[in-house]
Amino acid sequence: MSDPPIQAWIDAHRPRLFAELCDYLAIPSVSALGQGIEAASDWVERRLTALGAQVRRFEPPGGNPILYAELGPAEADRALLIYNHYDVQPVDPLALWTQPPFEPTQREGRLYARGTADNKANFLSRVQAVEAWQALRGPLPLRIRWIVEGEEETGSRSLPGFCAAEGWRWADSAGCLWEAGYKDEHERMTLYSGLKGLAAFELVARTAEVDKHSSMATLLPNAGWRLTWALASLKDPDERILIEGLMDHVRAPGPAELRALAAIPFDDAAFRASHGQSTLLTGVRGAEALKRHLYQPTCTICGVTCGYQDPGMKTVLPHMALAKLDFRLVPDLEPELVGRLLRAHLDARGFGDIELRPLAGEHPAPGHPESAVVRAAVEAVAAVSGVEPVLWPHMGATGPMHPVTSAFGIPAVGFGTGYWDSRNHAPDEHIRLADYWEGIAVAAEFFARFAAAPLA
Ligand SMILES: [Zn+2]
Repeated sequence: MSDPPIQAWIDAHRPRLFAELCDYLAIPSVSALGQGIEAASDWVERRLTALGAQVRRFEPPGGNPILYAELGPAEADRALLIYNHYDVQPVDPLALWTQPPFEPTQREGRLYARGTADNKANFLSRVQAVEAWQALRGPLPLRIRWIVEGEEETGSRSLPGFCAAEGWRWADSAGCLWEAGYKDEHERMTLYSGLKGLAAFELVARTAEVDKHSSMATLLPNAGWRLTWALASLKDPDERILIEGLMDHVRAPGPAELRALAAIPFDDAAFRASHGQSTLLTGVRGAEALKRHLYQPTCTICGVTCGYQDPGMKTVLPHMALAKLDFRLVPDLEPELVGRLLRAHLDARGFGDIELRPLAGEHPAPGHPESAVVRAAVEAVAAVSGVEPVLWPHMGATGPMHPVTSAFGIPAVGFGTGYWDSRNHAPDEHIRLADYWEGIAVAAEFFARFAAAPLA
């Protein structure tokens, strides 16, 4: 079980550690609104400096400050990279919060505030773990490089440029601790080592300058039909993506990933019930469903806008139609490649008139489920919490892991202090304080195990 001196240190310092967490949570650092960014980045800079870190502050043009800190003994032969963010999601709908979102409130063992689970408690639990280590044991057993950015909730626009310019500082790190992690309904920590990528586009069909009388549909084209036919060419009713060449770039999971997949307890009946479905797409079940979820790309119509949409009737021939599409990407699909293949597909199918506008792109970050950093995390969580975690080779979701880690071949792992009902991005976001105290001990245990783990 967990290390008695670390536990005793946490217990002895609880009021101060808790007050510090509340202090950080009270800063309304909403990147979407440009609020509290200076205050939060200053707070993080001060806190890391107080640990003895060398902190550099980068001010990307038009972006929010990125903090890069280094700490730990120069002679330590292993380096760990850590990624966190100090920005949070907007609070609305405000009326659905039980208390003001930036007045941290403790209730029944839970701490409520915007940014608790995503991502401030994760950051501070790691900071306090470093502090505990230094107080009890002296110098850290490894070097730590720490990236704390402030645009994660708005798409991390400045991060790829920052990583390309400054990545040489952390490129030889042996592993990366990613921002967060959550306990599932069975109290098992969900660990993950990679993320899917994302490519988002708008498709626009335009057939005239203005809408026409629908009696003209005998002779004049309809933007709604043009767009519908183009969309229908992208995927068939059997869920096959038909974009020429796209599936050639889908890499099958390797043996390590298949082993990790086989160890994930996945209850497909519960999943279907919770989503109100009697079957899943393509009829997959059990392990095959999980494999499809993690290792197949998606092509999703997220929204379509065209013609008259208000109540009642309007006999109109729309001149313009717009669809928003997103693709969740697996290795080796990259957003630029998907854009090129989609353009070529539309042209080849006679839809050269459809305009294609890229909206967002994030490269996939393949997982390394058998890497030293992942093993150290699995062991640390199991040792401290007494509950075997569940390791996902990667998640179906997306984040900026590629520019930070994959671009340099650094394996990553995520764990943290949230749980399945933490309500990230929603009203009444919270963590359970017991998870927070445990998270500090897990982080300290992880530092010890990763410093000592064989790399090969
Ligand atoms: Zn986050």
